[in-house]
Amino acid sequence: MRYDVVVIGAGAAGLSAATVLARARRSVVVVDAGEPRNASAQHVHGFLSRDGVEPARLLADGRSEMLGYGGQLLDDRVTSIERCENGFVVHARNSAFSTRAVLVATGLRDELVPIPGLREQWGIDVLHCPYCHGYEVRDTPIAVLGGDNRPFTLHQAALIRQWSPDVIFFPNGIELSEQDRRTLTARGIHIDEEPVTHIVVDAGHVRGVALRDGRLVPRQTIFVGPTFVPRDELLRQLGCTVGDADWVTVDPTGLTSVTGVWAAGNVVDSPAQLIGAAAAGSKAAIAINHYLLAQDIDHAIA
Ligand SMILES: Cc1cc2nc3c(=O)[nH]c(=O)nc-3n(C[C@H](O)[C@H](O)[C@H](O)COP(=O)(O)OP(=O)(O)OC[C@H]3O[C@@H](n4cnc5c(N)ncnc54)[C@H](O)[C@@H]3O)c2cc1C
Repeated sequence: MRYDVVVIGAGAAGLSAATVLARARRSVVVVDAGEPRNASAQHVHGFLSRDGVEPARLLADGRSEMLGYGGQLLDDRVTSIERCENGFVVHARNSAFSTRAVLVATGLRDELVPIPGLREQWGIDVLHCPYCHGYEVRDTPIAVLGGDNRPFTLHQAALIRQWSPDVIFFPNGIELSEQDRRTLTARGIHIDEEPVTHIVVDAGHVRGVALRDGRLVPRQTIFVGPTFVPRDELLRQLGCTVGDADWVTVDPTGLTSVTGVWAAGNVVDSPAQLIGAAAAGSKAAIAINHYLLAQDIDHAIA
């Protein structure tokens, strides 16, 4: 099967791109492995006009809009992309496609520190983004838990105080400088340096943070700083340039260093929220359409 564009990933970025391309009357297929990043969250916030919608509902609506314009969708996992004379061959586990251009919108993985109880509550009351869920937990007892992502977590601790006057920071392995202590204390954040052993969960909700000295500190919400791991294996296989931060770099339209290959959303932009990922997908789609148009003109002249 040959397409103008194969989009890999049917999250906000991929679906938005595919919709723009289908409406531009390009043949497009979206291949998706079915693991959107925010699947465990109960509601979406910060998406204009869709506030409070369930994550699965948002994507189901996006899928049906895209399909309505003639785009195609396939549940499968892409395993490799190879260049060929007229573009690329995209190999998935159960299918293969040839295509003129590729958009990789595969998102990222959130790696949490291995503290029992965290992963189970991820997206429910273990959170990382105050812009997504801070308002919903305003004025409640909040813990910020340290881990591997030092700068993100320290920034987060100072930031969360904006939503609640009752914030305790558990460094959990993060070494604090005098300046860090001054900043957190000045923000009215209590620091508890006792190591965390586990999170106490009861009836599906976080009840507190258990410490090595036997204390249980009652908390309703825990903010963490995951390590953000881009799902960029396909881009790296193709030889896309990687920047200083070890993330694949793209131009403002999402074009990678490889001609014909774009990337959009969290795979190249970890802070992008849903609306930002959708916007990046849309921008990439328009750039891809212009790229295809230039080819169409060349072929017509030839
Ligand atoms: C718990 C949580 C809650 C959040 N809440 C909000 C919120 O309220 N508001 C907000 O704006 N943002 C929120 N976010 C952020 C939001 O999840 C991201 O902005 C968004 O998911 C990025 O979209 P994306 O399309 O880049 O990636 P994703 O949504 O992760 O989609 C990527 C898709 O690509 C697929 N894929 C990956 N590899 C392959 C492959 N090899 N082959 C085929 N398919 C593949 C995946 O299965 C997935 O379906 C939240 C994040 C988390 C973790």
